[in-house]
Amino acid sequence: MPEPTEDLFSTDAYLRTFEAVVADVDPDGHRVALSRTAFYPGGGGQPADRGAVVWDGGTAQVAKVGKDKGVIWHQLEEGDPLPDPGTELEGTLDWDRRHLLMRTHTALHILCGVIWADFGVAVTGGNMEPGKGRLDFELDAMSAELGERAEKRMNDEIAAAREILVEFVGREAADADPALIRTKANLIPAFIDPLRVIDIRGLDKQADGGTHVATTAEVGRVEVTKTESKGKANKRIRLAVHDA
Ligand SMILES: [Zn+2]
Repeated sequence: MPEPTEDLFSTDAYLRTFEAVVADVDPDGHRVALSRTAFYPGGGGQPADRGAVVWDGGTAQVAKVGKDKGVIWHQLEEGDPLPDPGTELEGTLDWDRRHLLMRTHTALHILCGVIWADFGVAVTGGNMEPGKGRLDFELDAMSAELGERAEKRMNDEIAAAREILVEFVGREAADADPALIRTKANLIPAFIDPLRVIDIRGLDKQADGGTHVATTAEVGRVEVTKTESKGKANKRIRLAVHDA
């Protein structure tokens, strides 16, 4: 097993190219582990990145990325060459896709924040793809009007251009923070210390491993595309992200 991979996306979501050394090669899985990476391996509803790696004498598309025991594996496109261990290479993200995922992921935090502010209910589930996402809430009732209101509230928060900070918060402080308690951060295993916290100033705060934009303005414009009842105390809002 190679060393845990140094991840670059946790501290710099805007990094789109990086240099690294091939730490391990798994020929059966047609995948490589790198000394460091900007490729997000997926998690928390955010899909893994795609892109390419280039080295002296070779180039390969990154088809799939995943994390196993701290090691981030980059599965290369079938038929593309595998670099040898120790090879220096340059990785490049499919940035259009990743940036749209950052906008979409941030839009879901904004939705979470406005529903909490208006109804005081928590999220029960969610998912996203580039440009589209959904969240489920512990709401008693759902209506088209509620969806329209949520859309307006979200676009107002986008217009407010709230700053979004990435912070690493010590566990004791995190477990005592009411904003983090409501998003159930206290259920995260205690050995994870500090917690990585995404703070949309004045709106929403969550322990989160994903990638987000730097201000709400960068999301663009949000449209609520559908409201659904998925059962008692489980109501779904679907949204789409558009350019401003
Ligand atoms: Zn997030």
